[in-house]
Amino acid sequence: MPARLPRPNCALIHPAAADWAAGPGFTLVDPATEAEVAEIPVCGTADVDSAVAKAKAFSRQLALGAVQLDPLEILERLIAEIEARQAAFAEAVAREMGAPLDFATDKQVGTALAHLHTILKAARENPSEQATPPGQESHFVRHEPLGVAALITPWNWPLNQVALKVGAALAAGCTMILKPSEYATRSALLFAECMEAAGAPEGLFALLSGDGRTGAALAAHPGVDVISFTGSTSVGRAIAAAAGANLTPCLLELGGKSANILFADCDVDTAVTQGLAHCFRNAGQSCNAASRMLVAREIYAEVCARATTEAETYRFDSPLKPGGHQGPLVNHAQFDHVQAAIRKAQSQGARLLTGGPGRADGHNKGFYPRPTVFADVTPEMALFHEEAFGPVLSLTPFDGEEDAIALANESAYGLAGYIQTGSRETAMRVARQLEVGMVQINGQSRVEGAPFGGRKASGYGREAGLWGIRAFQTVKSISGV
Ligand code: NAD
Repeated sequence: MPARLPRPNCALIHPAAADWAAGPGFTLVDPATEAEVAEIPVCGTADVDSAVAKAKAFSRQLALGAVQLDPLEILERLIAEIEARQAAFAEAVAREMGAPLDFATDKQVGTALAHLHTILKAARENPSEQATPPGQESHFVRHEPLGVAALITPWNWPLNQVALKVGAALAAGCTMILKPSEYATRSALLFAECMEAAGAPEGLFALLSGDGRTGAALAAHPGVDVISFTGSTSVGRAIAAAAGANLTPCLLELGGKSANILFADCDVDTAVTQGLAHCFRNAGQSCNAASRMLVAREIYAEVCARATTEAETYRFDSPLKPGGHQGPLVNHAQFDHVQAAIRKAQSQGARLLTGGPGRADGHNKGFYPRPTVFADVTPEMALFHEEAFGPVLSLTPFDGEEDAIALANESAYGLAGYIQTGSRETAMRVARQLEVGMVQINGQSRVEGAPFGGRKASGYGREAGLWGIRAFQTVKSISGV
């Protein structure tokens, strides 16, 4: 059994130093080598109880104005601390979930920092107390912190998801208990050190090391005032049930099976290159991956050919090497899940254009998948509906706009939609009809601060910018002052 991951000397981390080596553990496996590299402690109910009690007491002190603390100053210093440790974060992310160093630096850490800057700006520009309507200053609306926020995050964009939640909860005035993914403990420990260096005291922020057992105990705790969860739809349902039992407000960012609609008037080369990137980047492990390409029949054969050659340019290699390649999948279970999705698509009659089961070229160990494209995927097949969470693209032809919209909406999920067309009118007409939370047209990136989240089995609630902050607040009206 490998040794426990070293515990940084940081008061915000649970379990405390005296208990770090005791109790149940979870083994971390290097996704590139499959070697068992370290164990992390799993916090139990006693740790959860103690963290919630401290967070509750501190939250009440904050509400009373009994402690002098400006959350936005802490947020500003947190950004500086993360910026100073960007290389260490990128290495932690590369080692824990396999994103290669350059991608980890630019995207995984870069996006987290961008979100924190946007949240800080949004908080400064939007005061929590507003006279309403303008001119009637004796009527106020106050956005007040909900209290103790339980933040439960996954491993696929680990720092990004932690930053979105902690940044927003902090700016909202909440106290926070973070339960990161067990697979992403390295970057989370670094994050806790940054919080301490930024001036966050005990009670304002706590990090619980642990797995689903810790997350379940936290989500069910009656002392928690708001839950923000990102992860799988199955765990999201369990968290919603736990939140419902306590009537705790809860935000859920869950899975997706997002459609990318290529109309006949699109720029095929650009649409296919960007479409593949939207599906394959981060080795396909993004909730908003454009994993279902719906293609106008007029350009279907051309797109099939172009997608095949484009997919074959993707290389999978060590996360610790520089370069624009993809890394391994996060763990054995995820590798097996992707293999099963590929085999099932084959057995259900999808036409394999490139890739398939097995490891990527040049690897006989490590969780390296093959970049895979299937054509002729129909709504009767599992691949049309189920998240592979790997570099697996499905192509489906459509006949006309109505058919495209119907196919796009034929999904339990409703996270993102992508539209490629030369017509602004078509783009807007279709965007309005997609049952999703976010639409991107012709490869346009989402603007910083735009609401992030979905509907249907992709969850509810929105993160990022002011939307993210308001998710951790409740509204109070005060009249007659
Ligand atoms: P997961 O649901 O297995 O785990 C997420 C977190 O929940 C982890 O911290 C885990 O320890 C914890 N957890 C597990 N069981 C729990 C329980 N019963 N109660 C409380 N907490 C529990 O998800 P994952 O495998 O880490 O992440 C991949 C999934 O997340 C994918 O389905 C992906 O689509 C989704 N995701 C969604 C978004 C989004 O914003 N919509 C973003 C990233 C990932």
